[in-house]
Amino acid sequence: MEQKNYNPYVSAQSQFDSVADMIGLEQAARDLLRQPSREFHVTIPVKMDDGTTKIFNGYRIHHNDARGPAKGGIRFHPEETADTVRALSMWMTWKCAVVDIPLGGGKGGIICDPRTMSLGEQERLCRGYIRQLSKVMGPVIDVPAPDVMSNAQHMLWMLDEYETITGGHYPGGITGKPVGMGGSLGRTEATGYGVIYTLREALRVNNIDIKSTTASIQGFGNVAEYAARLYTELGGKLIAISCWDNDNKKAYTYRCLDGIDVDRVASIKDKFGTINKQKALDMGLELLDGSEWIAQDVDILLPCALENQITPETLEKVSDTVKIICEGANGPTTPDSDDIIKAKNIYLVPDFLCNAGGVTCSYFEQVQCNMNYFWPKEEVFEKLDFKMTTAFHAVHNLAQEKNLYMRDAAYMIAIDRVANACKLRGWL
Ligand code: GLU
Repeated sequence: MEQKNYNPYVSAQSQFDSVADMIGLEQAARDLLRQPSREFHVTIPVKMDDGTTKIFNGYRIHHNDARGPAKGGIRFHPEETADTVRALSMWMTWKCAVVDIPLGGGKGGIICDPRTMSLGEQERLCRGYIRQLSKVMGPVIDVPAPDVMSNAQHMLWMLDEYETITGGHYPGGITGKPVGMGGSLGRTEATGYGVIYTLREALRVNNIDIKSTTASIQGFGNVAEYAARLYTELGGKLIAISCWDNDNKKAYTYRCLDGIDVDRVASIKDKFGTINKQKALDMGLELLDGSEWIAQDVDILLPCALENQITPETLEKVSDTVKIICEGANGPTTPDSDDIIKAKNIYLVPDFLCNAGGVTCSYFEQVQCNMNYFWPKEEVFEKLDFKMTTAFHAVHNLAQEKNLYMRDAAYMIAIDRVANACKLRGWL
């Protein structure tokens, strides 16, 4: 079926507008918060290995920094657009606010495909990006982190370039760095684990035992892998994983109705999340079309890949058995799908609450860098669990009390905190 072309920025603004209407947000606050406060569009010349110079385009967008420095990842994606980065920067503002960490929202993106670039080319791209942006970033202005297809090594190259330019050590200026180089233990697992902490609580408030549940996940990158690991460790049965296959340029769903061994599947994926198809077949996994992950007879759907995956069209395929959707990805659901999810009586854990574990651990990383003292992994997970669980119950309780959809309740809490910070600063 032909898919409508959804623009994530239009989606982010329409979600914001509808909650702004519900809470009667004043006009100036709406005008301020429905768009980014500043944007940087950069060109990055990179010397390629074959001796040519290629110009890459990139963005860094600060949506709002009333509660603290702008914070958010840098995505590497061949189809990156300014509007996607705008939307993601807005969602970062709400994400940091809903888990109540003292940071604002920002996001970056570079139009590139690291899967086709050598390590040297990737390093020069990272350094070139920072050379263009060093004046508008840093620990008290804007703090980047990894995101889609960017990783700890990229962050360290970026930080090294920043420190070379500024002539000091600023480990809190970029998060998601390698452990031992200012990174926090647990950062790799944090987003995926956070998804499952909120799922665990969602099951608890719905009186469902996780051990009796089945789930299907979209994606097998960093977020999805660790979500899948913790979900199965807690006793859930994961029966399907859908994942982009970069060799065949299409997505596949791998299924095992007896439950997938996540460890084994993780051992046959490459560093960008592509599962080796032949090895998966050798393991006895069933191969289905990429879109089939959403049509499984499971209790839980975990969209942990990209934007716009849950639409009115794809929702037609969702089984009546589905009770909970936890949005591990940013913006996986289009606004015209929310009414259908409500009508189907599916309990939703919205993206900027569900996947806030990554940025929460980034905040812990900054705290540890500032103290120059690093916590054991157990302590990181304990603090992460506490933050995520507290935020989840604040949203759930508001939703119960006012009979709201979970996404709207999360927006209400976040918008209220950010608008209030803007007021206290005298911006409004
Ligand atoms: N990229 C992650 C996100 O979308 C983490 C951002 C961060 O750690 O700053 O939430």
